[in-house]
Amino acid sequence: MSGYDPNNVFARILRQEIPARLVHEDERCVAFRDIAPQAPTHLLVIPRKALARLGDAGPQDEGLLGHLLLVAAGLARREGLADDGYRVVINHGRRGGQAVSHLHLHVLGGRDMAWPPG
Ligand code: AMP
Repeated sequence: MSGYDPNNVFARILRQEIPARLVHEDERCVAFRDIAPQAPTHLLVIPRKALARLGDAGPQDEGLLGHLLLVAAGLARREGLADDGYRVVINHGRRGGQAVSHLHLHVLGGRDMAWPPG
């Protein structure tokens, strides 16, 4: 973990200092609706662990990363996105478009996705 800011917005959501529209929580992660959705369905899945970026995860996080992906897929199924398809995105760092420095998976669905991404 490098340079984790404990006051980033997702850390504050985890501490329940600011509200979020939760769709899932368990002992390892929380998921909620994005405040500025980029698709009809736009969820964020975040670990409870203080990891700033995907690249800060280590071998000890292998199970956690797998769990986040399985939760993302389960939520996509529950939201009715699985048949038509959806996208899971992780932005890492400035050039990756990461604005919030707490690892998060975007789950986007309900419309056609473009490729290559912007
Ligand atoms: P990224 O650019 O990958 O860091 O994505 C950060 C995402 O967090 C953006 O899609 C924002 O709309 C979303 N976001 C920022 N603040 C909040 C909040 N308080 N509740 C829910 N989503 C948020």
